[in-house]
Amino acid sequence: APQPLDLKAFIREVPDFPKPGILFYDISTLLRNPEAWQIATARLAQEVLRFRPDSLAGIESRGFLSAAPVAQRLGCGFTMLRKPGKLPGETVSLAYGLEYGTDTLQVQADAVRPGERVVILDDLLATGGTLAASVALLRKVGAEVVGAAVMIELSELGGREKVDIPVASLMTY
Ligand code: IMP
Repeated sequence: APQPLDLKAFIREVPDFPKPGILFYDISTLLRNPEAWQIATARLAQEVLRFRPDSLAGIESRGFLSAAPVAQRLGCGFTMLRKPGKLPGETVSLAYGLEYGTDTLQVQADAVRPGERVVILDDLLATGGTLAASVALLRKVGAEVVGAAVMIELSELGGREKVDIPVASLMTY
């Protein structure tokens, strides 16, 4: 019988990137393999469907690669959460703290209808700071954020405890 595909076999672990002492989990090697990417997308779609979303949101930029194929598969719309200055028209921003300094995410003010059920996708959940900011930003524009899904979760960092929504993950380290 065919073995269920082990997605972790397609994740490259890169030591000392982007800084000394950091182990970076690289999805590039998964995206290069069409079967692995299709299976990752199918498994994400299965998790996301349980949240009964009206639309999906992806966090720039690897979150787009997780979210867009799932949105296509589920027949959902898709919203981009972007770095500042990239989106035209009226936008809403949210700054959030990093280990050193701050970062900002932006969304178009008319991205969702009031009460629209939105699920957020990203490649990886670490401390949860990025996801918590995304939840807060989408709520600012009127979304009901009903869940999140990531390919990879670094569980020791406790990211899922930073948000009050359920989080699904395909691979845990
Ligand atoms: P957090 O805000 O600490 O949860 O970090 C998650 C964000 O940083 C996500 O948007 C990820 O894309 C990125 N990130 C952090 N660590 C890694 C990694 O090891 N591989 C890929 N992306 C990472």
